[in-house]
Amino acid sequence: MQEQAVNIVVVGGSLAGLLHAIIFKHLGHKVHVLEKSSQSTLQSQAAGLGAGPEVRKLIDEYIKTDKPYATTSSLLEIVNSQGDIINSIPTGEVIYLTTWSLLYNMLKAHLLGDRTTPPATYETEKTVRDVNYDGNKVTVTYSDTNTGISNVLQADLVIAADGAHSSVRATVLPDVHPKYAGYVTWRGAVPEASVSEASREVLENRVIIFRTEKGYTISYHVPSESGSIAAGEHQFIWIWYEMLEENSEEFRETFTDITGVTRLTTVPRGKMNPTVWVKRQASGATLSAPFAELLSKTSDPFVSAIRDFVSPKAVIYDGKLLLVGDAFALFRPHLGASTNQAAKQADGLVDVFMGKGNLAEWEKASVEYATRTSATSNALGEYCFTGNVPGRLSTAIQPDKKSP
Ligand SMILES: Cc1cc2nc3c(=O)[nH]c(=O)nc-3n(C[C@H](O)[C@H](O)[C@H](O)COP(=O)(O)OP(=O)(O)OC[C@H]3O[C@@H](n4cnc5c(N)ncnc54)[C@H](O)[C@@H]3O)c2cc1C
Repeated sequence: MQEQAVNIVVVGGSLAGLLHAIIFKHLGHKVHVLEKSSQSTLQSQAAGLGAGPEVRKLIDEYIKTDKPYATTSSLLEIVNSQGDIINSIPTGEVIYLTTWSLLYNMLKAHLLGDRTTPPATYETEKTVRDVNYDGNKVTVTYSDTNTGISNVLQADLVIAADGAHSSVRATVLPDVHPKYAGYVTWRGAVPEASVSEASREVLENRVIIFRTEKGYTISYHVPSESGSIAAGEHQFIWIWYEMLEENSEEFRETFTDITGVTRLTTVPRGKMNPTVWVKRQASGATLSAPFAELLSKTSDPFVSAIRDFVSPKAVIYDGKLLLVGDAFALFRPHLGASTNQAAKQADGLVDVFMGKGNLAEWEKASVEYATRTSATSNALGEYCFTGNVPGRLSTAIQPDKKSP
């Protein structure tokens, strides 16, 4: 596409924003990232993350790190309450398990530290208020979160990476909304060193799924936040999926934080009402013993409502505004494929900007990938919740063994 350096504004400085900022910097363009949250608020929602093949491809091509950033696994194990394995599901390809913070810190350090490509700007506490197209350039109006002072940037291209509740998308595609899936996820991380020897033996180097009365739990083993994979320095990540009716009293209570504010999607770390957490921990006592131990040793849990959608379009304003990552399509998290989607879109744009493809093809590929991945993730969710294997997964998953 363009051969000269152009001005690119990226709205949202989380994983999708950083991945896109990096590829455009490497293409020789001037990149300016505007992120609404403060650095500490960003970290407060940090969680475990499966880094898919497209994420690793970009890390290998652009970052070329030799530091470990993930553990690996090639099996999902389903256990019953006695700890007996009732199904072992090969993942097909090896899955890489890491954390949001590890990836974020690696990507951001590269964006700001790589001296072989044009310098990039990354600003936190800058909220984009408006994105306007005059048929030539796109004007991005944003304000400082603390002072409220507004500023304007003229861009040749805007990348909307502002997440599932994207205000940029809401302006251009007002009918596309995330839809509640009927369940929430409770999440936490526990340092390996604080877990008993007995539970570590069960949980280490495994991805374990345990079906509960109204949902299921999953746990896995990842490097420490500093990337250490030394013995005793990993951490265990846990997620507990549970059905919860959207307008119920329990839903309202769950999403009302410690200050009385009702949260739309996530009650972040440090904001959960202690009464809510005490109840959750008490119900955790009925789960498998090692998982119950993780719950009891979690000091900063958080909870999210699960929603999904796939946008029918990713290319807006004659190709001057592109929707990427969760701003484009939000998956239910069972497959752990969201960051992979963002990386795949970023990689596809390299071809477009090198003149090896066009935006119409890129948009078509984005919609096809999102539609297919969303359906597979929903099917995996159905299996994990119920034990029934949907047709879509019948070659990948054999029926569970009956519990002895
Ligand atoms: C339970 C659970 C498990 C998950 N597990 C995985 C997994 O294993 N693997 C995986 O790949 N993904 C997983 N995810 C999803 C993953 O966390 C992200 O959704 C994914 O990385 C895509 O991020 P994003 O950058 O598109 O959006 P986000 O991370 O939501 O980032 C959007 C950013 O835009 C900023 N922003 C919003 N509005 C504005 C504005 N107006 N101006 C400026 N900035 C703005 C926000 O502050 C935010 O930082 C999981 C999610 C959940 C809930």
